[in-house]
Amino acid sequence: MRSWNFYAGPATLPLSALERARDEMIDWAGTGMSVMETSHRSKEYDAVHHEAMDLFRELLGLDDDHIVLFLQGGASLQFAMVPMNFIPKGGSADYVITGSWAEKAFKEANIVAKARIAGTSEGNGFTRVPAQHELDLDPGAAYVHITSNNTIKGTQYHEFPTPGAVPMVADMSSDLLWRPFDANRFALIYAGAQKNLGPSGVTAVIVKRSWVETANSGLPTMLRYGIHLKEESLYNTPPTFSIYIVRNVLQWVKAEGGLAAMERRNRAKAELLYGTIDGSSGFYRCPVEPASRSVMNVVWRLPSEELEGKFLGEAKTNRMFGLKGHRSVGGCRASIYNAMGIDGVEALASFMKDFAQRNG
Ligand SMILES: *Cc1c(COP(=O)(O)O)cnc(C)c1O
Repeated sequence: MRSWNFYAGPATLPLSALERARDEMIDWAGTGMSVMETSHRSKEYDAVHHEAMDLFRELLGLDDDHIVLFLQGGASLQFAMVPMNFIPKGGSADYVITGSWAEKAFKEANIVAKARIAGTSEGNGFTRVPAQHELDLDPGAAYVHITSNNTIKGTQYHEFPTPGAVPMVADMSSDLLWRPFDANRFALIYAGAQKNLGPSGVTAVIVKRSWVETANSGLPTMLRYGIHLKEESLYNTPPTFSIYIVRNVLQWVKAEGGLAAMERRNRAKAELLYGTIDGSSGFYRCPVEPASRSVMNVVWRLPSEELEGKFLGEAKTNRMFGLKGHRSVGGCRASIYNAMGIDGVEALASFMKDFAQRNG
C-alpha cells in the first residue's frame, strides 16, 4: 500500500514510472539485464538517454538553440558551474535573493567569481518574491540568476523578471515542468531531478548553445558545459538508472496530457490546500503573501509548536509523511509536485479540517 508522500525531495514519483522499473528490473529491453547493469555505450541505453532528452525538448517546446543536458552533482554543483563558465574575468553577475537556495547560489558565485545582489525579499522575511520594479539590474551583468520556486519558504515566481538583453539563468529545481512556459527565453535552466522530475543523482540542465560558445574554456573538463553539450551528456558514465527513471516520468507527463494538464491539476491541488488554510478561521496560517504563493510547496503554521507536533504525529498515523517544514523554518509544508494526485491533497485537506475542529 502506497503512503501519501509530501516530502520536499526526494519526493513522490508517478506510480507508472515505478511499476515500469519494477517490471523491467531483472530483464530489461530483452537484454536479460537491468538498465543499471548495462553499458552506457549500448544501443539499448542510448535509446533511453535520447528518449529522455527528446521528451524534455518536446514537453518544453525547445528551439534548435537549446539543448538538454544530464549532469551530476545536483543543483548545488550548478551553483558553482554557472559562474565558473559564464562570469568573465573582471565581470559580475546579478542574483535575486529569495530564500536559502538563492543565497547559497549567490555565495557560491562569490567563491569562484564576483556576484552582486540585484534584489532581495529578505526584508519581508522572504514571504514574497521581489517585483520587477524592485530590482536593481546591472545592464552589464554576465547574467541574472533567479530561483523560480523557493522550496523552503513556499514562494514562487508567477511572472518571471524581464532583464532585457542580459541572459537569464534560473534554478528551477522544485518546479520545472509544473506548467507550460517559454523556456527559450532562458540562457540556462537547471534542476536537481529529485523534486519534480525523478530520483536524485541527475540534474537536468537546459542551456542555450550559442551562450555555451562564449563560456570559459579554461576549466577542468567535467566542469565545462561545452564538453557535455558536445558529448550529449555521455562524456563519462552518466547516472543511467536515474536518467531511465526520468524518462519514465516524462513519458507519464506526456501521457497525462503534457504541461497544460500538469498546470490544471497543480492549480486545483494548490487551491484546495490554500483554501483549507485560509478557511480555517485562523487555525492554520500561511505566512506567504497570496501573489507569491507556491503551487508546489505549501507552507503553514498552527497556533503553537506543540499543536504542530501533534498535527505531524497524527498525520503519520494517517499515512501522510513528509509534512514537517524545513528545519530552518519549522512549521508544516506539503510538497505537492506533479506526481502528487488530487486524491492525496483531498486526503490531507480533510485531515486538516478534522484536526482543526478537534483542536481549535
Ligand atoms: C533542493 C534544491 C536545491 C539543492 O539541490 P541538490 O540537488 O540537493 O543540490 C537547490 N535549489 C532548489 C530550489 C532546491 O529546491
